[in-house]
Amino acid sequence: MQSDILTGLNPAQRQAVEQTNGALMVIAGAGSGKTRVLTYRIAYLIQQGIDPFNILALTFTNKAAKEMKERIALIVGQENARNIWMGTFHSVFAKILRFEAEKINYPSNFTIYDSADSKSLLNTIIKELQLDDKVYKVSIVQSRISGAKNNLISPKQYLENVDIQADDRAAGRPKLGAIYQEYWQRCFKAGAMDFDDLLFKTNILLRDFPETLLKYQDRFRYILVDEYQDTNHAQYLIVKKLAARFQNLCVVGDDAQSIYAFRGANIQNILNFRKDYPDYSLIKLEQNYRSTQTIVNAANSVISNNRDQIKKEVWTENDQGDRIKIFKANSDNEEGMFVAQSIFELQHQHHSTFNDFAILYRTNAQSRALEEALRKINIPYKIYGGLSFYQRKEIKDLLAYFRLTSNPNDEEAFKRIINYPARGIGKTTMDKLTLAANENDTSLWEVANSPGQYNCNINAGTRAKIESFTTMIKSLRSELHKEDAYLMAEKIAKSSGLLKELYNDKTPEGVARYENVQELLNGIKEFAETQKEQDAEAAPKLEDFLLDVALLTDADQDNEDEERVSLMTIHASKGLEFPYIFIVGMEENLFPSQMSVNSRSDLEEERRLFYVAITRAKQKATLSYATSRFRWGNLIYSEPSRFLDELDDKYVDWPVQMQRTQVTEKRTGGAIFTKKINPPKPKNLKKIPRPSAGNPDQRDYANVEDIRIGIQVEHGTFGKGKVVAIDGVEPNLKATVYFPAVGQKQLLLRFAKLRVI
Ligand code: ATP
Ligand code: MG
Repeated sequence: MQSDILTGLNPAQRQAVEQTNGALMVIAGAGSGKTRVLTYRIAYLIQQGIDPFNILALTFTNKAAKEMKERIALIVGQENARNIWMGTFHSVFAKILRFEAEKINYPSNFTIYDSADSKSLLNTIIKELQLDDKVYKVSIVQSRISGAKNNLISPKQYLENVDIQADDRAAGRPKLGAIYQEYWQRCFKAGAMDFDDLLFKTNILLRDFPETLLKYQDRFRYILVDEYQDTNHAQYLIVKKLAARFQNLCVVGDDAQSIYAFRGANIQNILNFRKDYPDYSLIKLEQNYRSTQTIVNAANSVISNNRDQIKKEVWTENDQGDRIKIFKANSDNEEGMFVAQSIFELQHQHHSTFNDFAILYRTNAQSRALEEALRKINIPYKIYGGLSFYQRKEIKDLLAYFRLTSNPNDEEAFKRIINYPARGIGKTTMDKLTLAANENDTSLWEVANSPGQYNCNINAGTRAKIESFTTMIKSLRSELHKEDAYLMAEKIAKSSGLLKELYNDKTPEGVARYENVQELLNGIKEFAETQKEQDAEAAPKLEDFLLDVALLTDADQDNEDEERVSLMTIHASKGLEFPYIFIVGMEENLFPSQMSVNSRSDLEEERRLFYVAITRAKQKATLSYATSRFRWGNLIYSEPSRFLDELDDKYVDWPVQMQRTQVTEKRTGGAIFTKKINPPKPKNLKKIPRPSAGNPDQRDYANVEDIRIGIQVEHGTFGKGKVVAIDGVEPNLKATVYFPAVGQKQLLLRFAKLRVI
């Protein structure tokens, strides 16, 4: 059995698995089996007799944890796999905080505020402090507070720190510390933690309660961390504290894939490792098992432009594979059509499934044109991030009811639903309640329960409405711990009036919202059943579901049963792999982003992002750029990304249209970036089909106007066929063609490359 596992590993990987004691760092390039090493190491530990309860594995997404567990289960059995502590930093430590919350004066049913909740609270505070919300932009305030928390700076320290204060004054935002302090207190009063708090409070817990630290040190005798390069200071300290006693710590990472500096990730953590654990071992993995030679070499050629990096030679024994194709589009819509059409064709040519494809972009806003194009030719897709299921209004409304039932002090939940469905409790009343809560330093819920006592000056009619709301919540609360998760959720959906409100709305949007709520209820049912399958004695409650939902990451919202193309930002694609990758929007000021081109370190982070993107591909990577696109409501003309130029020509097929552009200089903070776009390479040009008489394979493709109903055509993949219909308008004319070999297809004429026969 034991040797069975190790045969799937090369000697360096094997060493990383077998050396179980002491501190070990694996630094290795993309696709070299770092995650695989962690998986096998855990299985190996269990085989060696280590109790799974003593293993803590921290992954980048919950999905990665789930996949790892499934693999481990195949080797050491379901029972063992289940007992490993595995998940993201946030989810593991949220669970621990639930047990320990009272020590840090939080209720054990604390709410987790998502980013939208935090923003809403910050907006309220900025208004209350009568600050200019154009100067105190909520996104800036949020990221500043997040940065402070990730560096374990409390509001008190923030206000006392001379440098920070000087910074804020210089930036014209001297009141940031005051906002932070108020935000901190409001979260505390509401019994709520935001994502950064989960790490901050864990640090406080481990710092101030030595016996608690000892308990978890003793529990987590073996600690493993994936994607170590992207841990922030708060995460680094948690790991350091927990590992201090046994020092059985294995971290794996790739400095070339560090892409979260903007969120406080600190590459210094890799460098600190040798200081923290002087006896540590370092293992390098250099063989890539994921990608073709072309992809590996092209990625190497890009990253070699970064000055700050640990030297590694990444190579592969895989096939050479196709060159990386670059497509030039005139607009974002055309780029979308090209990608959609290419996916359609590749999927047919290679008999692959849509799950094999991913489209990666720099910013979420780019998905629109891609989505439209995919919809037009009926390619199913799934977007990670963006407005995900759990961010939809009706879902957030129902979740807010769940949250308030669990924790009535939850201010954001309270504000969200006090008057939804409408119960005649308007803004004036809310203002009065908020004022009283602030003045008396208590929660909205407290005030709502006895408005008279707080001199709220609310008339009897409105008071009765508030009372009927609080009575309903109290009555639901009394059942919360008795009922099973699903029945409780259903009861809340009904008693709140939310289900009825949506049911009565017969507009198509209303029907969709009602269905979404039903879908959420189904999800809860499924959650409860899965929990019970895993543990017959489990009696999952609604609060368990709430914790699970609050901690979902983008990559977790995945229904594996359906075959769909994946759309996501490059950030979200970390650790994943797909046979076919499309990287779109390869344009200056988009990728690299406009904000990054002024500093070397920011530009290097963008380049690492590009490295991450290319190295997701197993077989084929296709890059595209558009010479114009709509951004922020305007048509913007753009130049190809400098990163295209950095790809070694040997591995690239340049588009035929690509022209040498003027050499432009950007003078940026002392540094000069010279931009030059390669002209088409003659040797590559030969590969591109050119019109030529005689040879039938090189005949030009038909013009759009030559395609008429009834004529015979030939398609590169589907063979010969007959045009049965044409619809749409230029430039999106589509032909429906019947191909005896594959049946009827709808093709976009601009891309279909049909020949008239
Ligand atoms: P990333 O840096 O992108 O996170 P990684 O280093 O974690 O990549 P893995 O995802 O673990 O790499 O491995 C990449 C692919 O190579 C996976 O499909 C994995 O199963 C395969 N692989 C890794 N090592 C081996 C091996 N020794 N034999 C066969 N396949 C392997
Ligand atoms: Mg990995």
